[in-house]
Amino acid sequence: MTASKKNRKKPARASRAEAEEAIRTLISWIGEDPDREGLVETPRRVVRSFEEYFAGYAIDPADILSRTFTDVGGYTDPVLLKDIEMESRCEHHMAPFIGHAHVAYIPNGRVLGLSKLARLVDMYSRRMQTQERLTREIAGALEKHLKPKGVAVMIEAEHFCMKVRGVRKDHAQTVTTHFSGAYRKDAEMRTAFFAQVKG
Ligand SMILES: [Zn+2]
Repeated sequence: MTASKKNRKKPARASRAEAEEAIRTLISWIGEDPDREGLVETPRRVVRSFEEYFAGYAIDPADILSRTFTDVGGYTDPVLLKDIEMESRCEHHMAPFIGHAHVAYIPNGRVLGLSKLARLVDMYSRRMQTQERLTREIAGALEKHLKPKGVAVMIEAEHFCMKVRGVRKDHAQTVTTHFSGAYRKDAEMRTAFFAQVKG
């Protein structure tokens, strides 16, 4: 990274009014009339939708992962939450990419409430993403906050920027994985993970 890029300051956050005005500009640019009855409220609705799509910036992963349980009755095997519906937006086109995440970890004396894994996927999904970074960030947060003996994350998703534009491949799935700890060291652990995900 060059020094100038490193020192580059993030521009001040735009206001809601500016965001709505930007949508109005896009509507006008595609050749529509932003004052047409059906479109007058559209900028407000779009900005509201964006608030939902990108709600993940306001959440700290530490808040999701801070509460753990140590009373697990000696349980030491992997914990897997699979087929977690995920919906994110690619940072290159702001188009949705939609699919499933499978998240596993090997407890190191502590476990999480299962809903926390789903909330973690949601949180990082609701940001401008690449599927690769999303995969890495989910794993990284678990590694940092839970310190398990291993983490496996797999995401399978269809990217609307490929489905409805560009190469127009309707059913192509992008699969990303991240393995750490015992999953990285041990091929059998990875095989078991894939078998459970697909089983
Ligand atoms: Zn894209």
